[in-house]
Amino acid sequence: SKHSSAQYIEKEKCYSAHNYIPIPAVLSRGEGVHVWDAEGKKYLDFLAGFATLNTGHCHPKLVSTLKEQASTLHHTARAFHNDVFPEYAEYVCKYFGYDKVLPMNTGVEGGETAVKIARRWGYTVKKICENKALVVFPEGNFWGRTMSAISTSTNPVMYENFGPFMEGFGLVPYNDLCALEEALKNPNVCAFMMEPIQGEAGVVVPNERYLSEVRRLCTMYNVLWIADEVQTGLGRTGALLACDHECVRPDMAIIGKGLAGGFTPVSAVLANDNVMSVITPGSHGSTFGGNPLGCKLAMKTLEIIKEEKLIENSAILGEKFRTELICRLPKDKVPFIRGKGLMNAIAINPEYGTAWDFCVKLKDNGLLTKPCDGNVVRFTPPLILNDQQLSQGLDIIEKTVNEL
Ligand code: PLP
Repeated sequence: SKHSSAQYIEKEKCYSAHNYIPIPAVLSRGEGVHVWDAEGKKYLDFLAGFATLNTGHCHPKLVSTLKEQASTLHHTARAFHNDVFPEYAEYVCKYFGYDKVLPMNTGVEGGETAVKIARRWGYTVKKICENKALVVFPEGNFWGRTMSAISTSTNPVMYENFGPFMEGFGLVPYNDLCALEEALKNPNVCAFMMEPIQGEAGVVVPNERYLSEVRRLCTMYNVLWIADEVQTGLGRTGALLACDHECVRPDMAIIGKGLAGGFTPVSAVLANDNVMSVITPGSHGSTFGGNPLGCKLAMKTLEIIKEEKLIENSAILGEKFRTELICRLPKDKVPFIRGKGLMNAIAINPEYGTAWDFCVKLKDNGLLTKPCDGNVVRFTPPLILNDQQLSQGLDIIEKTVNEL
């Protein structure tokens, strides 16, 4: 039987662990950039499943791909070959220009995989002494909440009372090349893993040329550069990978989130043979990684990204979005607006309330999103957004700021 939004919220609170505090909207249907709640109220979805629904809700081509593959062959595990994974492996490698792919499911598994590959490369290629390998991360990083991921976290909300933590991780400030160079001088460092734009930290965009300098330093000190493109990849920032903005290539790229259109969790680590060859049979794996359903959805999603010119759309509408916001929002209430492509954020001056309260007001006005760190509100709408929907979104944001 159907319940009211309040009843669903109460039931969830009663039976689910309280590991999230959701914005109080109960969604029951989605189409394109829109969702509807249990009472039928329509919203613009400017969170898009934490930057996952690049192709929007229920893209018809993905729905039919899902139905077709689900009724043909959906799971085998890689104990056997299947007739979809090899096609996907070739497709994704050629699409991103890498020799090899290692298929996983979630973003954090992609990160764990990259760290394992880097450590093994450190021992077998760079000849680091046993158990001494270090992976360096920037402060403010977010790559999930497994034991390894929280062991690199600088956010106490994520790591407090979860120790003991994993060893072998180092930290440097983000966007600080001198500190990075100092850290990389340590011969035990096998990798530097970072987000080209920090997402959860508040959409922190590094200085221009930061990525090219990271590339130069990693090459100079024989350290693998791992780009966590889980949030920034697949057109989100107006380029296929955010590293493409500076025409540089990481030794490993991690992609995830919307790789399979948000239908099933599909992530991947991409690398060339000189790195990926350290992975030997049995040393890594996943029950679901490479499953035919996810692989088919991922191929179709990547096809749609090109076919519907979502990367170009992200670049153009993103530019418009920031230009309009800068023009329309008063500086005293909104001290900064930043981002790239359709990965953007605004800061709310705490004197005018919390980012949380602002998101609840946005919801009341018909637009959904969620805050990130530092009283910042992010906007990561589907990349299928059009001009008219962008204008509607801008009007709602402007109206809500005016109500502060
Ligand atoms: N890496 C980045 C940059 C992310 O933003 C996220 C999730 O928000 C992750 C990794 C973790 O992805 P998942 O939640 O699919 O494990």
